Amino acid sequence: MSDKNKIGWNFDNSYSNLPKSFIYEISPVPVKSPELIILNYDLADQMGLNFFKIDKEEQAKLFSGNSLPKGTKSLAQAYAGHQFGHFTILGDGRAVLLGEHISKSNQRFDVQFKGSGQTPFSRSGDGRAALGPMLREYLISEAMHSLNIPTTRSLAVVRTGEDVIRERPLPGAILTRVASSHIRVGTFQFIKTRDNLDELNTLVDYTIKRHYPEILKSKNKAYDLLTTLINKQIELVVNWMRVGFIHGVMNTDNMAISGETIDYGPCAFMNSYNPGTCFSSIDHMGRYAYGNQPAITKWNLARFAECILSLISPKKDEAVKMATEVIDKFDKQYEKKWFDMMKNKLGLIGDDKDDKVIISELLELMKDQELDYTNTFCFLMNSEISIKNDFQNNKFNNWKMKWQKRLTKDSHKLMEYSNPKIIPRNHNVENVLKSAEDNDLAPFNDMLKALKNPYTNQEILAKYRYPPAKGDKKYQTFCGT
Ligand code: AMP
Ligand code: MG
Repeated sequence: MSDKNKIGWNFDNSYSNLPKSFIYEISPVPVKSPELIILNYDLADQMGLNFFKIDKEEQAKLFSGNSLPKGTKSLAQAYAGHQFGHFTILGDGRAVLLGEHISKSNQRFDVQFKGSGQTPFSRSGDGRAALGPMLREYLISEAMHSLNIPTTRSLAVVRTGEDVIRERPLPGAILTRVASSHIRVGTFQFIKTRDNLDELNTLVDYTIKRHYPEILKSKNKAYDLLTTLINKQIELVVNWMRVGFIHGVMNTDNMAISGETIDYGPCAFMNSYNPGTCFSSIDHMGRYAYGNQPAITKWNLARFAECILSLISPKKDEAVKMATEVIDKFDKQYEKKWFDMMKNKLGLIGDDKDDKVIISELLELMKDQELDYTNTFCFLMNSEISIKNDFQNNKFNNWKMKWQKRLTKDSHKLMEYSNPKIIPRNHNVENVLKSAEDNDLAPFNDMLKALKNPYTNQEILAKYRYPPAKGDKKYQTFCGT
Protein backbone atom coordinates (compact mmCIF):
# COMPACT_ATOMS: atom_id res chain seq x y z
CA MET A 1 0.00 0.00 0.00
CA SER A 2 1.52 3.32 -0.96
CA ASP A 3 -0.22 5.08 1.88
CA LYS A 4 2.79 6.26 3.80
CA ASN A 5 2.43 9.78 2.58
CA LYS A 6 -1.33 9.65 2.26
CA ILE A 7 -1.95 8.67 5.87
CA GLY A 8 1.27 9.86 7.40
CA TRP A 9 2.71 6.62 8.75
CA ASN A 10 6.32 6.92 9.74
CA PHE A 11 7.59 3.69 11.22
CA ASP A 12 10.87 3.28 13.05
CA ASN A 13 10.99 -0.16 14.56
CA SER A 14 13.56 -0.03 17.30
CA TYR A 15 12.11 -3.00 19.19
CA SER A 16 12.64 -5.24 16.18
CA ASN A 17 16.36 -4.53 16.40
CA LEU A 18 16.65 -6.00 19.89
CA PRO A 19 18.21 -9.46 20.28
CA LYS A 20 16.27 -12.27 18.64
CA SER A 21 15.26 -13.73 22.00
CA PHE A 22 13.10 -10.65 22.71
CA ILE A 23 10.87 -11.06 19.68
CA TYR A 24 9.36 -13.37 17.15
CA GLU A 25 8.85 -11.84 13.72
CA ILE A 26 5.35 -12.62 12.59
CA SER A 27 2.52 -11.10 10.56
CA PRO A 28 -1.09 -10.81 11.59
CA VAL A 29 -3.17 -13.70 10.28
CA PRO A 30 -5.53 -12.28 7.60
CA VAL A 31 -9.25 -12.31 8.36
CA LYS A 32 -12.24 -13.18 6.23
CA SER A 33 -14.22 -10.00 5.79
CA PRO A 34 -13.08 -7.08 7.90
CA GLU A 35 -15.47 -4.28 8.72
CA LEU A 36 -14.48 -1.11 10.51
CA ILE A 37 -16.53 -0.54 13.65
CA ILE A 38 -14.86 2.50 15.13
CA LEU A 39 -11.87 4.71 14.43
CA ASN A 40 -10.48 7.23 16.89
CA TYR A 41 -9.96 10.35 14.78
CA ASP A 42 -8.86 12.42 17.79
CA LEU A 43 -6.07 10.01 18.61
CA ALA A 44 -5.15 9.71 14.94
CA ASP A 45 -4.83 13.47 14.86
CA GLN A 46 -2.52 13.44 17.86
CA MET A 47 -0.39 10.87 16.08
CA GLY A 48 -0.32 12.96 12.92
CA LEU A 49 -2.27 10.35 10.96
CA ASN A 50 -5.02 11.14 8.50
CA PHE A 51 -7.40 8.28 7.83
CA PHE A 52 -9.89 10.47 5.98
CA LYS A 53 -7.63 9.91 2.99
CA ILE A 54 -8.69 6.30 2.60
CA ASP A 55 -12.17 4.82 2.25
CA LYS A 56 -13.93 2.53 4.72
CA GLU A 57 -12.86 -0.59 2.90
CA GLU A 58 -9.20 0.35 2.98
CA GLN A 59 -9.54 1.33 6.63
CA ALA A 60 -10.98 -2.08 7.40
CA LYS A 61 -8.16 -3.83 5.54
CA LEU A 62 -5.61 -1.75 7.38
CA PHE A 63 -6.95 -2.24 10.91
CA SER A 64 -7.48 -5.95 10.44
CA GLY A 65 -3.91 -6.50 9.31
CA ASN A 66 -5.06 -7.75 5.91
CA SER A 67 -2.94 -5.03 4.38
CA LEU A 68 -0.06 -3.62 6.40
CA PRO A 69 1.30 -0.10 6.06
CA LYS A 70 4.74 0.26 4.53
CA GLY A 71 7.60 0.32 6.96
CA THR A 72 6.20 -2.10 9.52
CA LYS A 73 8.25 -5.01 10.83
CA SER A 74 5.60 -6.82 12.74
CA LEU A 75 6.45 -9.06 15.66
CA ALA A 76 5.19 -10.74 18.79
CA GLN A 77 6.97 -9.77 22.00
CA ALA A 78 8.35 -12.30 24.42
CA TYR A 79 7.55 -11.84 28.10
CA ALA A 80 6.81 -13.74 31.25
CA GLY A 81 4.76 -12.89 34.30
CA HIS A 82 3.41 -13.73 37.69
CA GLN A 83 -0.27 -14.49 37.16
CA PHE A 84 -2.06 -14.49 40.51
CA GLY A 85 1.34 -15.07 42.09
CA HIS A 86 2.41 -17.94 39.82
CA PHE A 87 5.28 -17.48 37.43
CA THR A 88 4.67 -18.40 33.78
CA ILE A 89 6.34 -17.79 30.42
CA LEU A 90 3.82 -15.87 28.32
CA GLY A 91 4.44 -13.55 25.34
CA ASP A 92 2.04 -12.00 22.85
CA GLY A 93 -0.31 -14.89 22.26
CA ARG A 94 -2.88 -12.89 20.38
CA ALA A 95 -1.17 -9.62 19.64
CA VAL A 96 1.22 -8.36 17.00
CA LEU A 97 3.23 -5.18 17.26
CA LEU A 98 3.26 -3.43 13.90
CA GLY A 99 6.07 -1.18 14.96
CA GLU A 100 6.64 2.29 16.32
CA HIS A 101 5.09 5.23 14.56
CA ILE A 102 6.99 8.49 15.02
CA SER A 103 4.84 11.59 14.93
CA LYS A 104 5.91 14.94 13.54
CA SER A 105 6.56 16.12 17.09
CA ASN A 106 8.87 13.14 17.45
CA GLN A 107 6.64 11.17 19.78
CA ARG A 108 7.05 7.40 19.53
CA PHE A 109 3.87 5.30 19.54
CA ASP A 110 3.72 1.52 19.63
CA VAL A 111 0.96 0.38 17.30
CA GLN A 112 -0.28 -3.09 18.15
CA PHE A 113 -3.09 -5.34 16.98
CA LYS A 114 -4.85 -7.34 19.65
CA GLY A 115 -6.76 -10.39 18.40
CA SER A 116 -4.66 -10.72 15.25
CA GLY A 117 -4.17 -14.48 15.24
CA GLN A 118 -1.91 -17.13 16.66
CA THR A 119 1.76 -16.65 17.43
CA PRO A 120 4.36 -19.01 18.86
CA PHE A 121 3.25 -17.70 22.28
CA SER A 122 -0.42 -18.65 21.87
CA ARG A 123 -0.18 -21.87 23.88
CA SER A 124 -3.65 -23.36 23.53
CA GLY A 125 -5.35 -20.07 22.62
CA ASP A 126 -6.80 -19.20 19.24
CA GLY A 127 -5.00 -15.84 19.04
CA ARG A 128 -8.29 -14.09 18.51
CA ALA A 129 -10.53 -11.71 20.44
CA ALA A 130 -14.26 -11.09 20.59
CA LEU A 131 -16.00 -7.84 19.67
CA GLY A 132 -17.49 -7.11 23.11
CA PRO A 133 -14.20 -7.18 25.06
CA MET A 134 -12.36 -5.18 22.38
CA LEU A 135 -15.01 -2.45 22.40
CA ARG A 136 -14.93 -2.58 26.18
CA GLU A 137 -11.19 -1.91 26.14
CA TYR A 138 -11.75 0.90 23.63
CA LEU A 139 -14.38 2.57 25.81
CA ILE A 140 -12.63 2.23 29.15
CA SER A 141 -9.12 3.07 27.98
CA GLU A 142 -10.42 6.21 26.27
CA ALA A 143 -12.37 7.07 29.43
CA MET A 144 -9.20 6.67 31.48
CA HIS A 145 -7.37 8.99 29.12
CA SER A 146 -10.07 11.63 29.56
CA LEU A 147 -9.86 11.17 33.32
CA ASN A 148 -6.21 12.28 32.97
CA ILE A 149 -4.84 8.88 33.89
CA PRO A 150 -1.85 7.47 31.98
CA THR A 151 -3.08 4.66 29.76
CA THR A 152 -2.64 2.78 26.54
CA ARG A 153 -5.17 4.01 24.01
CA SER A 154 -7.41 2.60 21.35
CA LEU A 155 -7.18 3.64 17.73
CA ALA A 156 -9.65 1.33 16.05
CA VAL A 157 -11.80 -1.76 16.27
CA VAL A 158 -12.71 -3.94 13.30
CA ARG A 159 -14.99 -6.90 13.09
CA THR A 160 -13.22 -9.78 11.43
CA GLY A 161 -16.25 -11.47 9.88
CA GLU A 162 -15.20 -14.65 11.66
CA ASP A 163 -16.65 -16.11 14.82
CA VAL A 164 -14.53 -16.85 17.85
CA ILE A 165 -15.57 -19.80 19.94
CA ARG A 166 -15.89 -19.09 23.65
CA GLU A 167 -18.75 -20.52 25.74
CA ARG A 168 -20.69 -19.77 22.57
CA PRO A 169 -19.71 -18.38 19.16
CA LEU A 170 -19.05 -14.64 19.33
CA PRO A 171 -18.24 -12.08 16.64
CA GLY A 172 -14.46 -11.77 16.27
CA ALA A 173 -12.69 -8.41 16.38
CA ILE A 174 -9.28 -6.78 16.37
CA LEU A 175 -8.36 -3.77 18.48
CA THR A 176 -5.55 -1.44 17.48
CA ARG A 177 -3.83 -0.48 20.70
CA VAL A 178 -1.51 2.47 20.94
CA ALA A 179 0.99 2.69 23.77
CA SER A 180 4.14 4.56 24.59
CA SER A 181 5.58 1.03 24.66
CA HIS A 182 4.59 -2.50 25.56
CA ILE A 183 7.57 -3.18 27.80
CA ARG A 184 6.28 -4.82 30.96
CA VAL A 185 7.65 -5.97 34.28
CA GLY A 186 7.13 -9.35 32.66
CA THR A 187 9.53 -8.44 29.85
CA PHE A 188 12.27 -8.08 32.46
CA GLN A 189 11.17 -11.32 34.09
CA PHE A 190 11.50 -13.12 30.78
CA ILE A 191 14.99 -11.79 30.12
CA LYS A 192 15.95 -12.66 33.69
CA THR A 193 15.11 -16.32 33.03
CA ARG A 194 17.70 -16.32 30.24
CA ASP A 195 20.51 -15.57 32.64
CA ASN A 196 22.30 -13.44 30.08
CA LEU A 197 23.80 -10.25 31.45
CA ASP A 198 24.25 -8.68 28.01
CA GLU A 199 20.57 -9.08 27.23
CA LEU A 200 19.59 -7.67 30.59
CA ASN A 201 21.84 -4.66 30.04
CA THR A 202 20.34 -4.22 26.59
CA LEU A 203 16.81 -4.20 27.99
CA VAL A 204 17.65 -1.76 30.77
CA ASP A 205 19.41 0.59 28.37
CA TYR A 206 16.66 0.34 25.79
CA THR A 207 13.97 1.04 28.39
CA ILE A 208 15.80 4.00 29.85
CA LYS A 209 16.52 5.49 26.45
CA ARG A 210 12.91 5.13 25.44
CA HIS A 211 11.15 6.19 28.62
CA TYR A 212 13.49 7.77 31.10
CA PRO A 213 16.34 9.43 29.18
CA GLU A 214 16.99 11.67 32.18
CA ILE A 215 18.70 8.74 33.92
CA LEU A 216 20.78 7.63 30.92
CA LYS A 217 23.88 9.14 32.42
CA SER A 218 23.35 8.12 36.02
CA LYS A 219 25.98 6.16 37.88
CA ASN A 220 23.64 3.33 38.73
CA LYS A 221 21.09 3.13 35.95
CA ALA A 222 19.39 -0.02 37.19
CA TYR A 223 18.90 1.41 40.65
CA ASP A 224 17.56 4.67 39.25
CA LEU A 225 15.24 2.80 36.93
CA LEU A 226 13.83 1.01 39.97
CA THR A 227 13.25 4.22 41.92
CA THR A 228 11.75 5.92 38.86
CA LEU A 229 9.41 3.01 38.25
CA ILE A 230 8.31 3.02 41.87
CA ASN A 231 7.33 6.68 41.57
CA LYS A 232 5.54 6.13 38.28
CA GLN A 233 3.54 3.19 39.59
CA ILE A 234 2.60 5.00 42.77
CA GLU A 235 1.31 7.90 40.71
CA LEU A 236 -0.68 5.50 38.58
CA VAL A 237 -2.28 3.51 41.37
CA VAL A 238 -3.13 6.69 43.31
CA ASN A 239 -4.97 7.85 40.21
CA TRP A 240 -6.85 4.56 40.04
CA MET A 241 -7.82 4.98 43.69
CA ARG A 242 -8.95 8.53 42.98
CA VAL A 243 -11.59 7.48 40.46
CA GLY A 244 -12.50 4.06 41.89
CA PHE A 245 -10.87 2.05 39.11
CA ILE A 246 -10.22 -1.62 39.77
CA HIS A 247 -7.74 -3.04 37.28
CA GLY A 248 -8.72 -6.59 38.10
CA VAL A 249 -5.69 -8.47 36.84
CA MET A 250 -2.55 -6.80 38.10
CA ASN A 251 -0.27 -9.64 37.05
CA THR A 252 3.32 -8.55 36.46
CA ASP A 253 2.85 -8.98 32.71
CA ASN A 254 0.10 -6.38 32.91
CA MET A 255 2.27 -3.70 34.50
CA ALA A 256 3.83 -1.40 31.91
CA ILE A 257 7.24 0.13 32.56
CA SER A 258 5.99 3.38 31.02
CA GLY A 259 3.56 3.82 33.91
CA GLU A 260 0.52 3.54 31.64
CA THR A 261 -2.51 1.50 32.58
CA ILE A 262 -2.44 -1.58 30.36
CA ASP A 263 -4.66 -4.57 29.76
CA TYR A 264 -8.34 -3.84 30.10
CA GLY A 265 -9.61 -7.32 30.72
CA PRO A 266 -11.68 -7.73 33.87
CA CYS A 267 -11.36 -4.11 35.02
CA ALA A 268 -14.38 -2.29 36.45
CA PHE A 269 -15.31 0.82 38.36
CA MET A 270 -16.52 0.80 41.95
CA ASN A 271 -19.96 2.16 42.69
CA SER A 272 -20.58 2.08 46.46
CA TYR A 273 -17.39 2.53 48.40
CA ASN A 274 -15.83 -0.59 49.81
CA PRO A 275 -12.12 -1.42 49.73
CA GLY A 276 -12.96 -5.10 49.27
CA THR A 277 -14.72 -4.47 45.96
CA CYS A 278 -13.66 -7.05 43.40
CA PHE A 279 -15.61 -7.98 40.28
CA SER A 280 -13.32 -10.39 38.49
CA SER A 281 -14.89 -13.84 38.20
CA ILE A 282 -11.53 -15.56 38.63
CA ASP A 283 -10.21 -13.48 41.52
CA HIS A 284 -11.67 -15.64 44.28
CA MET A 285 -9.37 -14.34 47.01
CA GLY A 286 -9.77 -10.66 46.12
CA ARG A 287 -6.05 -10.44 45.38
CA TYR A 288 -6.73 -7.54 43.02
CA ALA A 289 -9.59 -5.92 44.97
CA TYR A 290 -9.82 -2.11 45.02
CA GLY A 291 -8.13 -1.70 48.39
CA ASN A 292 -5.40 -4.24 47.63
CA GLN A 293 -4.09 -2.43 44.59
CA PRO A 294 -1.31 -0.51 46.36
CA ALA A 295 -0.03 -3.66 48.10
CA ILE A 296 -0.01 -5.58 44.82
CA THR A 297 1.77 -2.72 43.08
CA LYS A 298 4.49 -3.00 45.71
CA TRP A 299 4.64 -6.78 45.29
CA ASN A 300 5.03 -6.40 41.52
CA LEU A 301 7.75 -3.80 41.98
CA ALA A 302 9.64 -6.21 44.21
CA ARG A 303 9.48 -8.77 41.39
CA PHE A 304 10.87 -6.10 39.06
CA ALA A 305 13.70 -5.34 41.47
CA GLU A 306 14.62 -9.04 41.55
CA CYS A 307 15.14 -8.99 37.78
CA ILE A 308 17.75 -6.26 37.82
CA LEU A 309 19.59 -7.05 41.07
CA SER A 310 22.76 -8.09 39.28
CA LEU A 311 22.92 -4.67 37.62
CA ILE A 312 22.25 -2.76 40.82
CA SER A 313 25.43 -4.22 42.27
CA PRO A 314 27.63 -7.14 41.32
CA LYS A 315 27.73 -7.99 45.03
CA LYS A 316 24.51 -9.86 45.65
CA ASP A 317 24.14 -8.91 49.33
CA GLU A 318 24.64 -5.26 48.56
CA ALA A 319 22.19 -5.36 45.65
CA VAL A 320 19.54 -7.03 47.80
CA LYS A 321 20.08 -4.50 50.57
CA MET A 322 19.80 -1.54 48.21
CA ALA A 323 16.71 -2.87 46.47
CA THR A 324 15.02 -3.84 49.72
CA GLU A 325 15.60 -0.42 51.20
CA VAL A 326 13.98 1.32 48.28
CA ILE A 327 11.05 -1.10 48.07
CA ASP A 328 10.53 -0.64 51.81
CA LYS A 329 9.98 3.06 51.22
CA PHE A 330 6.98 2.30 49.02
CA ASP A 331 4.39 2.40 51.83
CA LYS A 332 5.37 5.84 53.08
CA GLN A 333 5.62 7.26 49.58
CA TYR A 334 2.26 5.82 48.61
CA GLU A 335 0.63 6.98 51.82
CA LYS A 336 1.79 10.54 51.21
CA LYS A 337 0.64 10.66 47.57
CA TRP A 338 -2.68 9.01 48.44
CA PHE A 339 -3.25 11.45 51.29
CA ASP A 340 -2.53 14.44 49.01
CA MET A 341 -4.93 13.00 46.44
CA MET A 342 -7.71 12.58 49.03
CA LYS A 343 -7.10 16.11 50.27
CA ASN A 344 -7.55 17.33 46.71
CA LYS A 345 -10.79 15.39 46.38
CA LEU A 346 -12.05 17.15 49.49
CA GLY A 347 -10.63 20.55 48.61
CA LEU A 348 -8.37 20.62 51.66
CA ILE A 349 -5.71 23.17 50.88
CA GLY A 350 -2.67 23.56 53.12
CA ASP A 351 -2.12 21.43 56.21
CA ASP A 352 -4.33 20.90 59.19
CA LYS A 353 -3.81 18.39 61.96
CA ASP A 354 -7.37 17.10 61.58
CA ASP A 355 -7.18 16.35 57.83
CA LYS A 356 -6.40 12.68 58.37
CA VAL A 357 -9.42 12.32 60.61
CA ILE A 358 -11.72 14.12 58.17
CA ILE A 359 -10.65 11.75 55.40
CA SER A 360 -10.83 8.55 57.42
CA GLU A 361 -14.21 9.45 58.88
CA LEU A 362 -15.63 10.06 55.43
CA LEU A 363 -14.29 6.75 54.13
CA GLU A 364 -15.81 4.99 57.10
CA LEU A 365 -19.15 6.69 56.52
CA MET A 366 -19.14 5.83 52.83
CA LYS A 367 -18.39 2.22 53.62
CA ASP A 368 -20.93 1.86 56.44
CA GLN A 369 -23.70 3.62 54.52
CA GLU A 370 -22.75 2.00 51.19
CA LEU A 371 -22.54 5.41 49.54
CA ASP A 372 -21.60 5.79 45.93
CA TYR A 373 -17.92 6.77 45.77
CA THR A 374 -18.10 9.11 42.76
CA ASN A 375 -21.40 10.69 43.69
CA THR A 376 -20.41 11.38 47.29
CA PHE A 377 -17.81 13.81 46.01
CA CYS A 378 -20.28 15.19 43.44
CA PHE A 379 -22.74 15.83 46.26
CA LEU A 380 -20.04 17.63 48.22
CA MET A 381 -19.33 19.77 45.16
CA ASN A 382 -23.03 20.70 45.04
CA SER A 383 -23.31 19.05 41.68
CA GLU A 384 -26.88 18.64 40.41
CA ILE A 385 -27.62 15.09 41.42
CA SER A 386 -30.89 13.48 42.33
CA ILE A 387 -29.70 11.27 45.14
CA LYS A 388 -29.28 13.91 47.82
CA ASN A 389 -31.41 11.86 50.21
CA ASP A 390 -28.62 9.34 50.53
CA PHE A 391 -26.69 11.94 52.48
CA GLN A 392 -29.48 13.20 54.75
CA ASN A 393 -28.62 11.62 58.05
CA ASN A 394 -27.13 12.91 61.27
CA LYS A 395 -23.83 11.15 60.94
CA PHE A 396 -23.20 12.48 57.47
CA ASN A 397 -24.41 15.97 58.37
CA ASN A 398 -22.13 16.14 61.39
CA TRP A 399 -19.17 15.10 59.33
CA LYS A 400 -20.11 17.57 56.61
CA MET A 401 -20.27 20.47 59.05
CA LYS A 402 -16.80 19.65 60.33
CA TRP A 403 -15.48 19.39 56.76
CA GLN A 404 -17.11 22.64 55.65
CA LYS A 405 -15.32 24.59 58.37
CA ARG A 406 -12.03 23.49 56.87
CA LEU A 407 -12.79 24.77 53.36
CA THR A 408 -11.08 27.80 51.83
CA LYS A 409 -11.57 30.07 48.84
CA ASP A 410 -10.16 27.74 46.19
CA SER A 411 -11.42 24.48 47.65
CA HIS A 412 -14.20 24.12 45.15
CA LYS A 413 -11.94 24.64 42.16
CA LEU A 414 -9.58 21.97 43.41
CA MET A 415 -12.43 19.53 43.92
CA GLU A 416 -13.77 20.12 40.41
CA TYR A 417 -10.39 19.19 39.05
CA SER A 418 -10.04 16.06 41.17
CA ASN A 419 -13.50 14.49 41.10
CA PRO A 420 -15.05 13.15 37.93
CA LYS A 421 -18.77 13.60 37.46
CA ILE A 422 -18.96 10.57 35.27
CA ILE A 423 -17.14 7.24 35.19
CA PRO A 424 -17.87 4.24 32.96
CA ARG A 425 -20.31 2.52 35.27
CA ASN A 426 -20.52 -1.21 34.80
CA HIS A 427 -24.21 -1.49 34.00
CA ASN A 428 -23.97 1.32 31.42
CA VAL A 429 -20.92 -0.32 29.86
CA GLU A 430 -22.78 -3.63 29.60
CA ASN A 431 -25.83 -1.97 28.03
CA VAL A 432 -23.92 -0.15 25.31
CA LEU A 433 -21.84 -3.21 24.50
CA LYS A 434 -24.96 -5.30 24.18
CA SER A 435 -26.37 -2.84 21.64
CA ALA A 436 -23.05 -2.73 19.78
CA GLU A 437 -23.04 -6.52 19.50
CA ASP A 438 -26.53 -6.22 18.03
CA ASN A 439 -25.13 -3.79 15.44
CA ASP A 440 -26.39 -0.60 17.05
CA LEU A 441 -23.37 1.51 17.85
CA ALA A 442 -25.32 4.67 18.72
CA PRO A 443 -25.47 4.03 22.50
CA PHE A 444 -21.75 3.18 22.56
CA ASN A 445 -20.88 6.42 20.78
CA ASP A 446 -23.18 8.41 23.03
CA MET A 447 -21.52 7.07 26.17
CA LEU A 448 -18.06 7.55 24.67
CA LYS A 449 -18.95 11.18 24.05
CA ALA A 450 -20.13 11.68 27.63
CA LEU A 451 -16.93 10.14 28.97
CA LYS A 452 -14.80 12.56 27.00
CA ASN A 453 -15.39 15.39 29.46
CA PRO A 454 -15.71 13.79 32.87
CA TYR A 455 -14.95 16.93 34.85
CA THR A 456 -17.43 19.30 33.25
CA ASN A 457 -21.13 19.71 33.75
CA GLN A 458 -22.95 18.56 30.66
CA GLU A 459 -26.52 17.57 30.09
CA ILE A 460 -25.53 14.20 28.71
CA LEU A 461 -24.17 13.22 32.13
CA ALA A 462 -27.51 12.57 33.72
CA LYS A 463 -27.98 9.31 31.85
CA TYR A 464 -24.74 7.85 33.09
CA ARG A 465 -24.18 9.15 36.56
CA TYR A 466 -26.15 6.78 38.74
CA PRO A 467 -25.40 3.27 39.91
CA PRO A 468 -27.99 0.60 39.13
CA ALA A 469 -31.02 0.80 41.44
CA LYS A 470 -30.28 -2.50 43.12
CA GLY A 471 -26.52 -2.02 43.33
CA ASP A 472 -24.03 -4.21 41.55
CA LYS A 473 -22.76 -6.62 44.16
CA LYS A 474 -23.36 -9.54 41.82
CA TYR A 475 -21.64 -7.93 38.83
CA GLN A 476 -18.86 -10.08 37.38
CA THR A 477 -16.13 -9.39 34.87
CA PHE A 478 -14.08 -11.80 32.81
CA CYS A 479 -10.56 -11.73 31.42
CA GLY A 480 -10.65 -10.09 27.99
CA THR A 481 -11.39 -13.15 25.91
P1 AMP B 1 -4.08 -11.36 29.49
O1 AMP B 1 -5.00 -12.10 30.40
O2 AMP B 1 -4.75 -10.62 28.39
O3 AMP B 1 -3.08 -10.55 30.20
O4 AMP B 1 -3.27 -12.51 28.71
C1 AMP B 1 -2.38 -13.37 29.35
C2 AMP B 1 -1.67 -14.21 28.33
O5 AMP B 1 -2.58 -15.04 27.63
C3 AMP B 1 -0.91 -13.43 27.27
O6 AMP B 1 0.25 -14.16 26.94
C4 AMP B 1 -1.88 -13.43 26.12
O7 AMP B 1 -1.24 -13.24 24.89
C5 AMP B 1 -2.47 -14.82 26.23
N1 AMP B 1 -3.81 -14.92 25.62
C6 AMP B 1 -4.97 -14.38 26.07
N2 AMP B 1 -5.99 -14.69 25.25
C7 AMP B 1 -5.47 -15.44 24.25
C8 AMP B 1 -6.00 -16.07 23.08
N3 AMP B 1 -7.31 -16.01 22.77
N4 AMP B 1 -5.15 -16.76 22.29
C9 AMP B 1 -3.85 -16.84 22.58
N5 AMP B 1 -3.29 -16.28 23.65
C10 AMP B 1 -4.07 -15.58 24.48
MG1 MG C 1 -1.95 -9.07 29.43
